[in-house]
Amino acid sequence: MSVTTQSFENSLEREKNPWLAAAARFDIAAEKLKMDDGMRKVLRSPAREITVNIPVMLDDGRIEVFTGYRVQHSVARGPGKGGIRYAPDVSLDEVRALASWMTWKCAVVNIPFGGAKGGVICDPSILSDFELERITRRYTAELIEFIGPEKDVPAPDMNTNDRVMAWIMDTYSMHVRHTTTAVVTGKPMDLGGSRGRPEATGRGCMIVTGEALKKFGWRADSTRVVIQGFGNVGGMAAKLMAAAGFKIIAIVEYDGAIYNKNGLDIPALAKHKKETGSIRDFAGGENYDKTEAMYLECEVLIPAAMEGVITSQTADKLNCRIICEGANGPTTAIADEILADKKIFVIPDILANAGGVTVSYFEWVQDRQGFFWNEDLVNERLREIMVDSFNSVVAYGEKHNVHNRTAAYMLALDRVQFAMKLRGIYA
Ligand code: GLU
Repeated sequence: MSVTTQSFENSLEREKNPWLAAAARFDIAAEKLKMDDGMRKVLRSPAREITVNIPVMLDDGRIEVFTGYRVQHSVARGPGKGGIRYAPDVSLDEVRALASWMTWKCAVVNIPFGGAKGGVICDPSILSDFELERITRRYTAELIEFIGPEKDVPAPDMNTNDRVMAWIMDTYSMHVRHTTTAVVTGKPMDLGGSRGRPEATGRGCMIVTGEALKKFGWRADSTRVVIQGFGNVGGMAAKLMAAAGFKIIAIVEYDGAIYNKNGLDIPALAKHKKETGSIRDFAGGENYDKTEAMYLECEVLIPAAMEGVITSQTADKLNCRIICEGANGPTTAIADEILADKKIFVIPDILANAGGVTVSYFEWVQDRQGFFWNEDLVNERLREIMVDSFNSVVAYGEKHNVHNRTAAYMLALDRVQFAMKLRGIYA
């Protein structure tokens, strides 16, 4: 069984370790499902972990070695699926956790994929475009026999985008000697990308939040929303939700927060950020302390930036009624209990942010058919899957008397275990 590779300085650091957080949720759900020991061992451990050390020539002629990972947690229900992140602090534990979350996420929304994730330790903010391209191509080349439309299909994640996906697609295609668009999703529209993919994760967050509102009998225009993160997920969620009438009262970023009790003008804020590089000092709101902003009174909090922000130290201070987890792993396992005591309705990450991988699935299907859908069809099918999945998780939780996160894990584990049993163990 995989164990953590890290040592910890203190208990908070341990609490925030994503692999331990993932394993804790797994254990709770497996226990409730009375899963047998053998199956637990199989599903708890990633099936394959690949580490590559890639030499890359920098623009000034120096050679640097970058470490990259690809973890395939499970391929029981279909090819591995999951993004690739570029960040200085990527670790194997993090990639493992993210890979397992992809397995459960794909199972929750019932799409025919397993779970995988990749990461390269690098700082894209100090690398040139050419350097990033060389890192991407060499990383892809090292993984060539492990990825493919039927094996493992990468996608964007933190600090990677459609341009990076185009390089992966091209490198893979050059190696196999024919253009293979379905090897990766989140590509540019002109290279087999799907309409609606860039907005998909944010749109999915809006859809499930809308379903939660129905349960509470609330209306969008009287719903105050605080969003942490203004990038691909948070930024899109803010844009779509503001257009749908939600009152986005605060946006929180790594360098500060901006607040307006009457609701921020999101398109104007996006323009301000584009021009100045920051949300701070936006004329349509007041600068706010980024830690305090998370504790503002609101109906919906959307952590859409990073892992481990809602912890045993912060959960008690939250003043929201619903948490919609746009990021992967924003809440620690210990904080789950505090949120449950506070009766906060949590839409867990493996459900809340599954809109992205759902439209990735549509992209893969369209690439393989060579036939592309219009945006309304993409959005309609996304809505159908998100609404069905939300209702299945909530109904499962009510039936088994567990909170939404445990319900989502139980549903997912059960689906994956069912596939494993049907396939049997090959020996
Ligand atoms: N990186 C996204 C996620 O964490 C998308 C993965 C995908 O589309 O494969 O869900």
